[in-house]
Amino acid sequence: MIIAVDGPAASGKGTLARRLAAHYGLHFLDTGLLYRAVAWQLLEDGRGADDEAAAVEIAARLDLESISETELRTTGIGDAASIVAANPNVRTAILDFQRRFANRNPGAVLDGRDIGTIVCPDADCKLFVTASPEVRARRRGRELRAAGNDISDDNVLADLLRRDARDQSRAVAPLRPAEDAHLLDTTNLDIEAAFRAAVAIVDGS
Ligand code: C5P
Repeated sequence: MIIAVDGPAASGKGTLARRLAAHYGLHFLDTGLLYRAVAWQLLEDGRGADDEAAAVEIAARLDLESISETELRTTGIGDAASIVAANPNVRTAILDFQRRFANRNPGAVLDGRDIGTIVCPDADCKLFVTASPEVRARRRGRELRAAGNDISDDNVLADLLRRDARDQSRAVAPLRPAEDAHLLDTTNLDIEAAFRAAVAIVDGS
C-alpha cells in the first residue's frame, strides 16, 4: 500500500504521515528532507541556493543516512530548499530514489508536495493536507522556538507564504492537489482529530 500525503509548509502533513505509517506498519519518507539536505550541503560548500550545477551534483549522490535532521529544520534551510526544488534536474535526480522507497514492501507513506501528482500517481490513497496560514505559522513558530530558534509567528508566516508562493508557481511539479486527492483541512483539528480523519479517509478508499 502506498499513501501520498501532500500539502503546503507546516500544514501538519509530516506528523500525520508519520503517524499513518506507524498505524498501518508502512515505511515513512519525508521527501522535504531530501530537498533540505541538498540545500544544506550547497550552503555548507559555500555555494548559493541558486547554483544549479552544484545542486544537481549533490542531489545525484545524496546519502539519506548522513542527514542530521535538526540542522535541516530551520526556516533558512526551508527557504533555500524551495529554491533548490524549483530546479527540474534536481527533482529528476531524486525521483528514482523516492519511487524505489515507495515500492519497498509492505508499502510506504511519503509526504511532500508532488507525491500524488508526480512521484506516486498510482498511490492507493492521496491526501492533501491544508490549514490556514495563521494556524500553520502558529504551529511552526511553536515548534521552532521549542527547538531553540528565536523567531516570531509573524516572521514564520512571512516565510511560509513566500515558500508556498514559490512552490505553487514553479514550472515543474508545482504544489497542487492531485485530481483524486482527498482534501483534509486541519485548521480546526488537533493532531488526534486530524489523525482520526486521515485514517477514516484511508480506510474508506
Ligand atoms: O516539507 P518541507 O517544508 O520540509 O519542504 C521543504 C521544501 O522542499 C518545500 O518548500 C518545497 O519547495 C520542497 N519540496 C518539494 N517537493 C517535495 C517535498 C519538498 O518541492 N516532494
